[in-house]
Amino acid sequence: MTLPIYEVEPQLRSAFESESARAIIEAPTGSGKSTQVPQILLDSGLAGDGQIVVLQPRRLAARVLAQRVAAERGETAGGTVGYEVRFERAVSKNTRIRYITEGVLLREMLEDPELSRISILLFDEFHERHLYGDLSLAMAKRLQESARPDLKIGVMSATLQTEILESYLSPSITVSSEGRTFPVEISYSDRSVRGDVWDAAADVWHQEAKRGIEGDVLIFMPGGYEIDRTLRAISEFREADDWELYPLHAELPPERQDAALKRYSRQKVIVSTNVAETSLTIDGVRLVIDSGLARQARFDPNRGFDALTIERISRASADQRSGRAGRTAPGKCLRLWTENENRSRAVAELPEVKRVDLAEVLLTLRGLGIERSEDFDWVEVPLSQSLERAEQLLHDLGAVRNGELTQIGKQMLTFPVHPRFSRMLIEAGGRQCVRPIAVIAALCQGKPLLLRKVGRHVEELRDDLFGDVGLSDFFRELRAFQYAKSQNYHQGNCRKLGIHVATARQTERLATRFIGIAEKAKIQLEEGSANEEGIRRCVLAGFADQVARRRDGGTLRCELVHRRKGEIERGSVVRDSEFVVAAEITEVEKSSGDLDVLLRRVTGIESSWLLEMFPDECVTRDVIAFDEHTRRITAVRATVFREMVVEESGQGEPNEAEAARLLAEQVMEGRCPLKQWNAEVENWIIRLNCLADWYPEAELVKIGPVERQSLIEQVCLGAISYKEIKDRPVFPVVRSWLSEGQQVMLDQMVPERWKMPNNRRLKVRYQEGKEPVLAAKIQNLYDLKEHPKLVNGQVSVVLEILGPNMRPVQVTQDLPNFWKETYPKLKPELARRYPKHEWR
Ligand code: ADP
Ligand code: MG
Repeated sequence: MTLPIYEVEPQLRSAFESESARAIIEAPTGSGKSTQVPQILLDSGLAGDGQIVVLQPRRLAARVLAQRVAAERGETAGGTVGYEVRFERAVSKNTRIRYITEGVLLREMLEDPELSRISILLFDEFHERHLYGDLSLAMAKRLQESARPDLKIGVMSATLQTEILESYLSPSITVSSEGRTFPVEISYSDRSVRGDVWDAAADVWHQEAKRGIEGDVLIFMPGGYEIDRTLRAISEFREADDWELYPLHAELPPERQDAALKRYSRQKVIVSTNVAETSLTIDGVRLVIDSGLARQARFDPNRGFDALTIERISRASADQRSGRAGRTAPGKCLRLWTENENRSRAVAELPEVKRVDLAEVLLTLRGLGIERSEDFDWVEVPLSQSLERAEQLLHDLGAVRNGELTQIGKQMLTFPVHPRFSRMLIEAGGRQCVRPIAVIAALCQGKPLLLRKVGRHVEELRDDLFGDVGLSDFFRELRAFQYAKSQNYHQGNCRKLGIHVATARQTERLATRFIGIAEKAKIQLEEGSANEEGIRRCVLAGFADQVARRRDGGTLRCELVHRRKGEIERGSVVRDSEFVVAAEITEVEKSSGDLDVLLRRVTGIESSWLLEMFPDECVTRDVIAFDEHTRRITAVRATVFREMVVEESGQGEPNEAEAARLLAEQVMEGRCPLKQWNAEVENWIIRLNCLADWYPEAELVKIGPVERQSLIEQVCLGAISYKEIKDRPVFPVVRSWLSEGQQVMLDQMVPERWKMPNNRRLKVRYQEGKEPVLAAKIQNLYDLKEHPKLVNGQVSVVLEILGPNMRPVQVTQDLPNFWKETYPKLKPELARRYPKHEWR
């Protein structure tokens, strides 16, 4: 059987031979993109004597593809065809086609910025839009436009969303292939899954098996744990005796991964993560059962790094998954969610660059010599606030100073983990506590190891076993972890103490990984037990942006760095330390709309450590504050670390502008009202804002909250107490927002009052975003023939025509019509009811 990609072989070659040397290849999964395109290019000599590198978002796919392609050429991986992923490689000097993960390429760029041995770079699975895929494509484009005009770039994708790419890579040539697919019949559940999703999947498989299934079955689950549970649930059915059952995910040893991909004489069930969605094609599948879930990385504002959570996949992903049933013959897909729920799903996944933490990637960019992430030619530009947050974190961790990588920053680059953890591990290397820090880093990734709501009895047991030195919440978690490990994760023993067993197991796995990473980076592992002070200092290094000082002894309320405020969680064991660092900060919105900022996983620190570890950021200056009792500005001389006072050392001088700013804040928050800021002032601001909307040509600047604050600051200038500003005149300052000419225009175009023919002046009611309203008694309107209009006749008022009882008899924007049509009908009745009034 020849694969569909061969039908477009001539176009493919000419795209790579073209002057721009940029090709976009779109073809459905199974067409032969990943296995055939590199071979076509190699065999046609287009790579010269350089390498063809195929970038894969997944480690598992890189290895499997290399082995498959090597086998197609009658070799094994490591010869002409090789692969290289984190911690594992099979390449030799004869290797011409190399399957690698994106991280590997970036590390190569750090060492050999011109990628001198590579002739062709193929970006596979680009539709997945992984952050590092985006980034390495951008780097490749940059390289091609500068030092390597001969570099050829190909981007391959299983879906037809090529618009972004075409404009990004322009000029480029797009080669498409329809592929070959068979129809797949999709059905949904009648009701949402109750209970566990693996049981639901197993039940669905069982129903189908009883009726008879043709071909193999592919079941999608979010991760290793759910995959194991599904297989266990299936194997309990008698029907399973005739089937081969296989898991497929990245954490399995290679032999077991390969076993899932083999063909057997019996039918098989493969339960897989979304690696089987488009990365790997498994021929012979006729039935797909889809949980509709996937593990995804997403920035978690509570933790300040990405969390892996189980999320509902998009409709585009679900369609890809169902397509896997129609590769070799017509198939069926059973979705474990309702059709109704399907409509509420996202159309497509958000690209990672829009949802994950950018700190690690910005560090990498710096390492590659790109200083300003704003100027970087992103495939899709990230949100500016995520960029800012990431830049700030890199600064706070000490990785970047004045736009340049520091010594520590350079060292952090060699760790393939989030900068918080690389920073912690580096610190740990110098302080003999790599092992416990690896466990703490692992603990940070999961749910709390110790369940929060447990009875008194359990609390006491915990106190006995894990102690309570009051220095760090992590110490308790560390001991609880050691305990769980020593009990071999015994369910019953752990449960008695409220220890989450699955989290403990995961902690061990992750900690081992962190230790491996530290060893790779040549960090010395300690022997024997570690010192507690060292551990606390390491936690500080990794969360240096979340340092806080208790307001006073006995309280949980804190001032944090960067002008934030928060409260230590009630259950924390850290009760005495004045200075703390929090590894988790949760913002909870209260019913009042205010934010409760809760500091969790707290560790006590010493202020002297701040002075030692961040000498250039601990500055002595005058700090002013607003004293709520005396309602005065106070000034002290103090040592300040990132806007947080570390130590007071005497009287200070209030700075005029800063004092005004603080007072203005109090005014804005309603604690110090200005007597003269009255209805007249408010009405003037509303008129200004209305006019700015109605008459944009005048280019008036509206007064919003920010402008309000700066006006109030002007009022407060020179004062240091509420008493001084309370009665200060306000209107002259507010009015000075406009030039004199503009003030005249304002009064003319949106007058406060409207003059009637009988010389009465009636008030116009203005409201932002609405039409102006004028309420007038009929008698005041006699002689007024035209409808009243403002802003040079451009905005007509809503006229509320009032009867003698002051109730509207009509609301209109067409007065002449009122006189002509409505008034004659109303008049007899009104004249009878109110004979004393004038009725013309
Ligand atoms: P694409 O990248 O377009 O999704 P691939 O190049 O991965 O397609 O696969 C093309 C075809 O090659 C598949 O449909 C399948 O028939 C075959 N194939 C690929 N990898 C393997 C493998 N590891 N084992 C068996 N067959 C494979
Ligand atoms: Mg592929």
